[in-house]
Amino acid sequence: TVRTRIAPSPTGDPHVGTAYIALFNLCFARQHGGQFILRIEDTDRVRSTAESEQMILDSLRWLGIEWDEGPDVGGPHGPYRQSERGEIYAQYAQQLIDAGYAFKCYRTTEELNALRESRKAAGMQLALKPADLALDADEKNRREQEGWPYVVRMQVPVDGVCVVQDMLRGRIEVEWAQVDAQILLKSDGMPTYHLANVVDDHLMGITHVLRGEEWINSAPKHQLLYEYFGWEMPTLCHMPLLRNPDKSKLSKRKNPTSINYYRRMGFLPQAVTNYLGRMGWSMPDEREKFSLDEMMAAFDIQRVSLGGPVFDLEKLTWLNGLYIREDLDDEAFLQALRDWAFNEDYVRQILPQVRPRVETLSQVAPLAGHFFSGLPAINEAAFDSVKLEKETLVKLLQFLTWRFEAIPAWHKDALLEEVKALAEYFDLKMKAFLAPVFIAITGSTTSTSVMDAMVILGSDMTRARLRHAIE
Ligand code: ATP
Ligand code: GLU
Repeated sequence: TVRTRIAPSPTGDPHVGTAYIALFNLCFARQHGGQFILRIEDTDRVRSTAESEQMILDSLRWLGIEWDEGPDVGGPHGPYRQSERGEIYAQYAQQLIDAGYAFKCYRTTEELNALRESRKAAGMQLALKPADLALDADEKNRREQEGWPYVVRMQVPVDGVCVVQDMLRGRIEVEWAQVDAQILLKSDGMPTYHLANVVDDHLMGITHVLRGEEWINSAPKHQLLYEYFGWEMPTLCHMPLLRNPDKSKLSKRKNPTSINYYRRMGFLPQAVTNYLGRMGWSMPDEREKFSLDEMMAAFDIQRVSLGGPVFDLEKLTWLNGLYIREDLDDEAFLQALRDWAFNEDYVRQILPQVRPRVETLSQVAPLAGHFFSGLPAINEAAFDSVKLEKETLVKLLQFLTWRFEAIPAWHKDALLEEVKALAEYFDLKMKAFLAPVFIAITGSTTSTSVMDAMVILGSDMTRARLRHAIE
């Protein structure tokens, strides 16, 4: 049976690109009556967080994407989190070493840098091959005896051409000269993406790997690993990456890339999923509006076109409008509003912000409107009351956006720390520093506390409003 998977790394916001690839994997599996698996690739212990993993699961579910096996639902091939499979990878790395397909490398970072520098200076290929990394036998023994840290690397051919087959692209040729003696196990014993990915795809019975084209360059290494292990390789299919309207790779600098943002903006999950299904793919009758069930029923991977699909906010917004007008009756519309922000949990968060500031209930909606809206209308005059040079103001909002981007968990203390540090950098009192932030976030000069508003609005909406204010 066909088995596909999505293998996200929980190192940040849930990316629309992850949802897009997940959707196509799901449709491919369902079309063949197969299974779709979710595996968490959290071997990067520094950047992986439990929050990020939870957000990825939540946002895929929100979109209606369900998996048959995964860390939260279990299954016969678990654990489905790579951080819990360390022993498995160590065992397979040892198997490769024993067979001579991999070797321990005791080279230091300084030596590796020097090697690369000298090759660069000589105009040679930068890929390091096993022979380049070899130490003479005495030195190798000494380092081994003394217990120096080492990594495990794979053997790779020196020259010739590696041919990889791709379901959509056909023959892909990569010169072996470009491929280095990839690290398989890091010095802390953790596997790299390449080893863990291949071992897990095999052990989890994955038959088809649909993933972003950014991974094409990894395919030769993976193919070689399958050969070394004597395993059958899954069929590969590299999907075109999503693009900004200017055709550059979709990036958070130019477009919101977090699913949380679209959710917060009040997009309907069925519209977002429909739109992602339009990314490089079309229904046989070319209609633009279709449900996930309809997509699964009509799916055909050969209908994917490789020209970079443009993720266009305006088109998505248009489609979302269609759903609201055509698909929701009053009852469903009410429910959508409840799911979004008109619910008790959310309103409760806002009460403490509002109560001290109103004298009648009718003042609540005008005061708290920004908790129930998207990007406030802001023109240059909006900042008239702020006593800062325009250049400083733009810089201030820009720097704050960048600093907020790097916060691992969105808590008030963390935000406050960033704000304080930047206020100091700009040599401004907190009040003066927060004045433009206040306007960017709430769209007015009088409202609820801006720090609390940012906490409640969340990372994505906060950053989007800060960015929007200076666009
Ligand atoms: P950004 O450029 O916005 O920082 P990124 O490439 O750093 O994006 P990652 O956090 O590395 O984003 O990617 C998260 C997941 O989203 C990865 O699985 C990656 O394959 C996928 N992804 C990122 N950008 C795209 C894209 N343009 N199209 C499809 N998938 C993407
Ligand atoms: N962990 C990788 C990612 O974040 C998986 C890539 C693959 O599908 O092989 O996208």
